[in-house]
Amino acid sequence: MKIGVLAVQGDFQEHINILQSHGADTAELRNAADLNQALDGLILPGGESTVMGKLLEELGMLTPLQKKICRGLPVLGTCAGLILLAKAIEGGEESHLAAMDIIVKRNGYGRQLGSFAADGTVAGTAVPMVFIRAPYITEVGAGVEIMAQVDGKIVAAREKNMLVTAFHPELTEDFTCHQLFLDMIS
Ligand code: GLN
Repeated sequence: MKIGVLAVQGDFQEHINILQSHGADTAELRNAADLNQALDGLILPGGESTVMGKLLEELGMLTPLQKKICRGLPVLGTCAGLILLAKAIEGGEESHLAAMDIIVKRNGYGRQLGSFAADGTVAGTAVPMVFIRAPYITEVGAGVEIMAQVDGKIVAAREKNMLVTAFHPELTEDFTCHQLFLDMIS
């Protein structure tokens, strides 16, 4: 099984580390040619969604990625990766991959709460959650399953082949979210 990790910006190395420590094969996706290989899954990491979105366009990766996701390639988007997948971003900002039927609010917790940790539950499992200038989901479409809420805000969701978290499962030792994603592949 080979998991492609978008590696143009952000904390892709942490995803690679946690996947490899659980025996998964990974490939760094840095340009359009990297998307020609056979992949079983895709990870869109945390980072800065505006920068990543711009790089995806400049590198000619946006449309090929949209096609792969639309055809059903399992994808995990964390934090900025969640924003990249969202159909709409509050405040009129342009969306990026626009694949998932969710509306997100970027930097949803404001400057005062730039970074914090919380204990939450994902699919019945206790999960430590690290939030860094995190978004949250303000609206979900009918086909979207809410996977986690913290203080009444949606912080994880799944639709078809797409799983997103507003927090960073790659920054803790907890493998619950990555395992849920790997289960979507098999
Ligand atoms: N605030 C970032 C954005 O809007 C996301 C932060 C993160 O990925 N840790 O893209």
